[in-house]
Amino acid sequence: MDVTTLTAHRCRELLAAGEVSAVELTRAYLDRIAATDGAVQAYLAVDAAGAVAAAAAVDAKPRGERLPWEGVPIGLKDVLCVKGMETTCGSRILKGYIPPYDATVIAKLRDAGLIFLGKLNMDEFAMGSSTENSAFQTTRNPWDLDRVPGGSSGGSAACVAASEAPWALGTDTGGSIRQPASLCGVVGLKPTYGAVSRYGLVAFASSLDQIGSLTRDVRDAAALLDLIAGRDPRDSTSIGLPEPVGEPGRTSLEGLRFGVIGELIGDACEPGVREVFDSAVDAIGTLGGVCEEVSLPSVERGIAAYYLIAPSEASSNLARFDGVRYGHRTAESEDLYEMYVRTRSEGFGAEVKRRIMIGTYALSAGYYDAYYAQAQRTRTLIIQDFARAFAAFDFLISPTSPSVAFKIGERTADPLSMYLSDLCTIPVNLAALPGISIPAGFSAGLPVGLQIIGPHFSERGMLGAAHALEHHLRVNVMPPLAAPEAAR
Ligand code: GLN
Repeated sequence: MDVTTLTAHRCRELLAAGEVSAVELTRAYLDRIAATDGAVQAYLAVDAAGAVAAAAAVDAKPRGERLPWEGVPIGLKDVLCVKGMETTCGSRILKGYIPPYDATVIAKLRDAGLIFLGKLNMDEFAMGSSTENSAFQTTRNPWDLDRVPGGSSGGSAACVAASEAPWALGTDTGGSIRQPASLCGVVGLKPTYGAVSRYGLVAFASSLDQIGSLTRDVRDAAALLDLIAGRDPRDSTSIGLPEPVGEPGRTSLEGLRFGVIGELIGDACEPGVREVFDSAVDAIGTLGGVCEEVSLPSVERGIAAYYLIAPSEASSNLARFDGVRYGHRTAESEDLYEMYVRTRSEGFGAEVKRRIMIGTYALSAGYYDAYYAQAQRTRTLIIQDFARAFAAFDFLISPTSPSVAFKIGERTADPLSMYLSDLCTIPVNLAALPGISIPAGFSAGLPVGLQIIGPHFSERGMLGAAHALEHHLRVNVMPPLAAPEAAR
């Protein structure tokens, strides 16, 4: 049996039954990474020694005394601080930075006994939709190695699709979990803002960032959310979930009303994506749910508002990278000011510099009202549109991404075409809502995701609905690369 093709739940069952040891399981993933990651390039760093040692400690405990998830491996996006493990955010400016502490989500997973396989590639500071903005390497889509995995959590999505981890953590500021999940054919969950602590997550846009999961199925997404959610005194914006999500057992959609967001299924959407989306709408009907189109006029302004709000917050958050406190410092400089300038010029990539400049401009005294304040007013309109829609519908749906995975290099020269990748996901972050992408089918052999959006803190119901659809659609989530001999 190839244990690397299993869900985290199956890994847990095999461990509990003593059919596989934690060390065997961990080694199977490390072997898989050695065989396929040369082609996929999902991992920035693999901690083989640390993972095997942690697994051996699990094996040393009597099985009856172990916690439920003890010994199950996981991959981690490199934006999460892990004590003693280099954390770069895909940026040269953080090269060599080794956090002295664990992010709250990491501490929770450590306490639960999960095994950390390593850190996963990402767009620099999570800015991007293809992982091509990483300063270090280009991650490839396991379904077609000439295509991008999406981003910014491209390493997390690709590693799960390529069976290089049973599940992974990612982060989502405007779509960075759901869009790569869609492009790689896995499940991506972005929780309600505040459900999960952001302490130890290197900040991009603090009012939008949330940590979430990339998994092979909806059950695993529910379990991982229950492991990481919760109020944290170290993050004053965290609230936790009103109740644990538990096991999403739902198989019917009887009694549920789904609103199809009209503005997100128009011309921007590729025909192949639209076809898969339409068949998902039919599937909802077959399962007893009701679908009806609903208009949320302001979501069309989501990208414009986001590209003022997110860069504004980023320009402020990234001011801390000054060569004094973390990572890279320029080799030579005459004085302190030159040290700052040279460190930041050398350390940040082009997209990060672009965002810092846009954000600084939008917040400057003369332009604040025209840009930043206007974007915030637009954000309020988006929040109100969603609130109105949720008065009539239990959930809203759309394609997750307007296109399937695009070719490496295709959009790098045109930032605006890259920004459009998040047309359907960005409004969800602006309104602080939970969203999930599940594999819904294929267009020309490439995965297409369906996005389900719920009201604030409706994760339990949203995952239940996602489970029913997943169960019905039964989309293959194993790319051909899953056979190791297929790896180049
Ligand atoms: N692609 C969007 C951006 O570049 C969203 C990224 C994210 O969710 N981290 O900002």
